[in-house]
Order: sequence, then C-alpha cells, then structure tokens
Amino acid sequence: MTNATNKAKTMTNAEKRQAVLTRDNCRCRACGFSDTLTMEVDHIVPRTLGGSNDIDNLQALCSFCNNTKSNIQIPELPIREACDGFGDQAEVTENRLNFRQHIADIRKIQIAALTRKASEWKANGTRGLTIRKRLDKLTTSGIVEDILKSIK
Ligand SMILES: [Zn+2]
Repeated sequence: MTNATNKAKTMTNAEKRQAVLTRDNCRCRACGFSDTLTMEVDHIVPRTLGGSNDIDNLQALCSFCNNTKSNIQIPELPIREACDGFGDQAEVTENRLNFRQHIADIRKIQIAALTRKASEWKANGTRGLTIRKRLDKLTTSGIVEDILKSIK
C-alpha cells in the first residue's frame, strides 16, 4: 500500500470533501457553478450500489445538480477548468436544464431495460421477492418500486 493510499484511508470526511473540491476546481461537474461553501460531494457509483467512499468515487456537484442526479448512476462527468467567481450564470442555468433532461432520459432507459429483464424473470417463474432482490442490486429503490408495479 502506498503512503498516498494510507493517507486517503485515514482522512476525515471534511478532509475528503476538501480534497475533492480542490481536485474538481471547486466547480460542479454537471453545471460548472462554483461556490466553496455550498458545493456537495456526490458518489459516482452510488453507495446503495456498492460505491466506495474513496476520493476516486467522489465528485463535486452543486446542491441543484446533486438533487437532480439523486442516486441515479451515470457515466463519470469530466472535471471543469477553474473559473472566477460563481461561473457564468447563463451557462450554469443552461447546463442545469440540460443535466436535468439528461438524467430524466437515463432514468427512462434504465427503467425500460430493467423492466424487460424483470418481465423475463417473471415469465420464467421467478418469485416476486427474488425479482425485488435482484433489482435492488442493479438499481435504486425508487426505480425498483416503479418496475415492480409495471410488471404486476
Ligand atoms: Zn451543478
């Protein structure tokens, strides 16, 4: 184990947050908003899907984009260049709207794919409880409920 890895393991949450914000130039990876005080740290692979608390699995998101993303898993977003102040407000607003649409699209695609799978399992005689357990490992609880309702 390297010294850097050892250090990462012993970091407090506050130190991790600071390290993530510094690495991400204190900008929301989704919209580019920049604000040290209100920036949040998001799990790239959600905790519910086995994502770790390591810095590699954490990214800076503003509270708006973090709420939008919820615990949907999406491909990792690139780190943005450092900027002055809060960033360009018009650009931030446009990026937020695009991000919201992007998340809605991904959610729809994930639900459609998992609903097909769940229907196949059901057609093969898999019990409802087993289907629920399998879905819980693949996606987040809000989506699981939607899928189970749709295959009833
Ligand atoms: Zn944002």
